Amino acid sequence: MKFTSTRNANQSYTLSEAMLSGLAPDGGLFIPEIFPQFKVDDFFSDSCWESLPGSYEEAMPYPDLNIDAFPIPYPDLCYQVLKPFFQGDTLSDSLETICQTAFNMPAPLVQLEPGVFMLELFHGPTLSFKDFGARFLAACLSTLANKPIRVMVATSGDTGSAVAAAFHQKPNIDVIVLFPYQKISERQQQQITCWRDNIHAFAVNGTFDDCQRLVKSAFFDPHWKTHYTLCTANSINLGRLLPQVCYYAYSSLHIFKTTHKKANFIVPSGNLGNVTAAYWAKKMGFPIQKIHIATNKNRVISDYIETGNYTPRQSIHTLANAMDVGNPSNFERLIALFKDYNDFKKSVMAYSVSDEQIKDSIKDMFIKHGKIVCPHTATACWALTQMNLRSSGNICSATETDQEPWVIVATADPCKFETIVEPIIQQHVPIKPVLSKLLAKESQFTLIEPHLDLISH
Ligand SMILES: *Cc1c(COP(=O)(O)O)cnc(C)c1O
Repeated sequence: MKFTSTRNANQSYTLSEAMLSGLAPDGGLFIPEIFPQFKVDDFFSDSCWESLPGSYEEAMPYPDLNIDAFPIPYPDLCYQVLKPFFQGDTLSDSLETICQTAFNMPAPLVQLEPGVFMLELFHGPTLSFKDFGARFLAACLSTLANKPIRVMVATSGDTGSAVAAAFHQKPNIDVIVLFPYQKISERQQQQITCWRDNIHAFAVNGTFDDCQRLVKSAFFDPHWKTHYTLCTANSINLGRLLPQVCYYAYSSLHIFKTTHKKANFIVPSGNLGNVTAAYWAKKMGFPIQKIHIATNKNRVISDYIETGNYTPRQSIHTLANAMDVGNPSNFERLIALFKDYNDFKKSVMAYSVSDEQIKDSIKDMFIKHGKIVCPHTATACWALTQMNLRSSGNICSATETDQEPWVIVATADPCKFETIVEPIIQQHVPIKPVLSKLLAKESQFTLIEPHLDLISH
């Protein structure tokens, strides 16, 4: 399998090349030349499904779907899904081991009400979905690191911690983490700055977009280019995106076999990496119907759908801070999947959610379902209630919610955002043991103005 840039289909690269550089030399993003095709039956014969727990006759029409009840172990499923992308690459012989190392965490599908599931992607070591991509990329890069590699990462909160945890003490790799000073939660900051060794944390006096710009500029800086083998661990890196396809493959297969319906997803989005992975899974033939985007007040994608103009801007600070992105770096990858703007507009729906609506959703989810959600996940919850409102108002005959099952993608554990969530639900949010362990460590970082020269290591 070969990969090309979103800006030039004529030059092709191997997967390892793409992962090691992150960004294509022409400034575009790497995409697969073709998408491998799968069918539901490729994965199992019908008989493996008889042992599913729960009975469909219970109050809920379908049971909660635990990953352990899936007839194929999750790492094995990931291996099957990713194998075609690795064909012919130096990493192909290691892929099975990489999958076993990277994907050793659960991704439960919890049913909230009939036909509405929550895909919980926050049970990894740093409690957000970023662990899936970061652990996979770290396993791939450390297999490739026969000479020193410098990994650069800009973070709006959760990427930095996931990447730091995944790369900590990996031989031959050092990591520069850039985060916007005073714009991430205290617990997020602690999870980025507690590592030391090969992990170097920099607080940038600016926004997330400034951090992202610094990473990009390092790749075009003559000094940096000659002195380091540079690589980025942001979601522009293919090695982050490919493993995210796997949980859409898994959840859509599990839901299809249980409900005999294709799943619809709502994805809380910032840089649009996670939602692009969902579209890739759909394109690869997994049983997925609609994929909707939920954003916070950073509404560049909603505006694009409304007007056809893509206008990047300064990001604004919101309660869902990991989604505070004014110029989503995966936009090029996402539009590359559609013929033109009209095709995009027909297929993609986006909801921009205010801080007030985020708070309302957190409260609502707690009162109605006894479920505590993080501010990011809350944007997707709000989008779902909007669809429900529209359908009960009889605005259109074939309503959105007729197309259940819906899956809310839950991107982080609420205990990372306790200062926001606790006052809203007026309850203590229990802290996970993995997090309290990191909080007990001593933190260390350097505060800098947003200039590349100030990053010294
Ligand atoms: C990173 C992040 C997002 C946004 O994901 P993208 O792939 O950048 O769109 C949403 N929620 C949480 C908790 C995150 O950490």
